[in-house]
Amino acid sequence: MSLLAVGTVAFDALETPFGKAEKVIGGSATYITLAASYFAPKVNLVAVVGYDFTPEHVNTFRQHGIDVEGLQVRQDKKSFFWAGRYHNDMNTRDTLVTELNVLEDFDPVIPESYQDCQVLMLGNLTPSIQATVIHRLKNRPQLVVMDTMNLWISIAFEELKQVLGLVDVLSINDEEARQLTREYSLRLAARRLLEMGPKYVIIKKGEHGALLFSQDKVFFAPALPLEEVFDPTGAGDSFAGGFTGYLARTGDFSFENMKRAVIYGSAMASFCVEKFGPERIMGLSYSEIEERAAQFHELVRIV
Ligand code: AMP
Repeated sequence: MSLLAVGTVAFDALETPFGKAEKVIGGSATYITLAASYFAPKVNLVAVVGYDFTPEHVNTFRQHGIDVEGLQVRQDKKSFFWAGRYHNDMNTRDTLVTELNVLEDFDPVIPESYQDCQVLMLGNLTPSIQATVIHRLKNRPQLVVMDTMNLWISIAFEELKQVLGLVDVLSINDEEARQLTREYSLRLAARRLLEMGPKYVIIKKGEHGALLFSQDKVFFAPALPLEEVFDPTGAGDSFAGGFTGYLARTGDFSFENMKRAVIYGSAMASFCVEKFGPERIMGLSYSEIEERAAQFHELVRIV
């Protein structure tokens, strides 16, 4: 099945307790498509970049077989820019800068060849643009997954609620789930989120793993206790890419298969944090990914 990913393609400035990077390629759609490229037979990208995004940067996507027909390049503006600084625990971070630039008036155009996508991954992006993408697809994809972030919960809450009513799966982190629902208990937060539209909710808890909820079921996947965590940026998006990529590969959207997809998503997130930016998820082999997924099984196997 083919996967369509929409989100930001950006430049990031990152600061963690282990070092700094001034300008690395980032953005939700970058991590999603790179991670998904190891699984989905076809990955299509819809995003916008500015004049500072060179053909070599575009090649990063091509080298992973990602279709870039839907990547708009604007000559009059700079790319989306984000700067973040992590606290010592690496689970929390401060956003230092968000420059929307090309995102301010992004009009997502869906190429004709993307129209038949079966899985749609709406990466972190302005909620109204996420909604526009859904409306511009002639046929609703079989599975629509969305992610979001504290900024949009703060400044575009109403639009966000509308998109929530249109999707099948919401992927969100614990703090955002609490901010969105005003519930401290994640179980209650998940219930409120399920009431808002999605049939499934994934709550990511950073180094403490992820929870998958449906109306009547819960599944917990741990995160791999790693010796070295350099930079958590993009972990959530790599998770989403692995998750949706695996579902597009298998074409099975049952709760049981979603559990496997959560493990593959967690595996991609665990690779992502091992190096700065998306570097680590760029040159993986499928056998490395399978090996890592097996480590997750081993981690929680009792007998
Ligand atoms: P994550 O660590 O998975 O939350 O994703 C980090 C990525 O999200 C970075 O590469 C940023 O460029 C991108 N990002 C940061 N803020 C936003 C935002 N408000 N909307 C969309 N993407 C963002």
